[in-house]
Amino acid sequence: MFVLDAIRKYAAEGRIALVYRDRCMTYAELDRKSDAFASWLIERFGEDRTPVVIYGHKEMDILPCMYGALKAGRAYVPVDITVPAERAVQICEDVKPKAAVDFRNVGLKADMVLDPEMLCGVFEEYGGRRVDDSLRASGGDFAYILFTSGSTGKPKGVPITVANIENLYREFAPWMESDGDVVLNQISYSFDVSVCSVYIGVARGMTLYTIDKGMVENLGELFDYLGRSRLAIWVSTPSFAEMCVPSVKFTSELMPSLEKFVFCGEVLTHKLADELDLRFPAAKVINTYGPTEATVLVTAVEIDQKMRSDETQIPIGYPLPEVTFRIVDENGNELAEGEQGELQIISDSVGPGYFGRPDLTERSFFLDEKTGKRGYRTGDSCFVRDRLYYYCGRLDNQIKLNGFRVEIEDVENNLVKVDNISRAAVLPVYEDGKVQYLAAFVLLEHPDGLSSLKRSISIKNGLAEFLPSYMVPRKITALPNFPLNTNGKVDKKELAKLL
Ligand code: AMP
Repeated sequence: MFVLDAIRKYAAEGRIALVYRDRCMTYAELDRKSDAFASWLIERFGEDRTPVVIYGHKEMDILPCMYGALKAGRAYVPVDITVPAERAVQICEDVKPKAAVDFRNVGLKADMVLDPEMLCGVFEEYGGRRVDDSLRASGGDFAYILFTSGSTGKPKGVPITVANIENLYREFAPWMESDGDVVLNQISYSFDVSVCSVYIGVARGMTLYTIDKGMVENLGELFDYLGRSRLAIWVSTPSFAEMCVPSVKFTSELMPSLEKFVFCGEVLTHKLADELDLRFPAAKVINTYGPTEATVLVTAVEIDQKMRSDETQIPIGYPLPEVTFRIVDENGNELAEGEQGELQIISDSVGPGYFGRPDLTERSFFLDEKTGKRGYRTGDSCFVRDRLYYYCGRLDNQIKLNGFRVEIEDVENNLVKVDNISRAAVLPVYEDGKVQYLAAFVLLEHPDGLSSLKRSISIKNGLAEFLPSYMVPRKITALPNFPLNTNGKVDKKELAKLL
């Protein structure tokens, strides 16, 4: 696999793979540790190729575990610390891992769970061993499984194969060319935008300049750190750049070697594109689009002056060379240029489906007869003009909140697990075309005698046991009953009037 070959090649050149705060890891160390982890997996579990679950955040030793799993022919399942213990255990119930690495002692369920100390022991004991290249994950083998919000209230797994990633690499690597050698590593490994750095950045021998949650919450510290970075490529959701914009320090003086911003995952607004053009006049802004199911991204476009001044939204881009797009109506008929409909992606980057969910796979994935490639119904409403594609929102209840993918029903189904809540309805609250926060309305099973503030805090705490913090609604209001529409369903339009 290209990324494993690259690690070996750069190991011999003495390059730095990772910088995290005041520490760094060379490619040689990454190569040695990933071989050690792979050797341990093979010795301990033999032929069994069950995916390895890794729970943590940006700990340096996560990467050797990810690449080590691939070297041993296994997929890895990265689960970020924003996922609470209960949900991480649900993921383990789906994956049934033999081996797991738990950087935060959250109580993962697997035949063998390594904590950071045990992992160090593995690196020491197996350090120096080399795994035979023929054992690596390849072709249709799963490389990773990412768990994303699922409308049933349980996260759903999206496996991506080695061949899918190889295709992404062929298609998108030219967009990651640069004269510099430092790329941002800010996105959690459990979100696929991180693949741009972890696969394409590493394949180019770049240094992953790592930012954790703590730094994101402390802009002063973040900017000091960025100021020392020699960063060439910024990869993030637009939301992360938007968080940096309020600071006057966020300019090309802070990052003079920055060549490009690569955005993915949510709407890039005119406001942000304009702001970046002012503050980083020499840096390109590249917008990309794609769902996890089609391996990170399937479009790209450099945003120019004309696009910034056009009243239409910023385009999501041109399909990458091998990608076919179709925009269809609700009966699956292809629509003409300019007409809005559901975007279908046909590409070798479309993954095999949902992990252990043939029902969901059948609904969203298909084999395209014309090309013989796999297709995916995105649920995104789009139109095309002069070959450029534009995004007009979702056709279902999935939203993006600060760059995170959230199914509204996931929040509702988990709210009713909280003590004393019988029903729940959740509304995304929009401003400037972007979701700003979630508001929830609930019915109580019996009066609780609490003030609205205390009740809201108690429900939020209860919900945080089941859901990542970014999915917990900011406002929670108890009502005596829900307004119903003529079909007898909760009338969310009426509820919105109560906001
Ligand atoms: P995820 O699987 O988390 O990457 O989320 C995929 C969804 O994010 C897509 O189906 C879109 O709804 C949305 N999305 C991704 N990229 C963009 C973009 N550049 N502009 C607008 N929405 C986007």
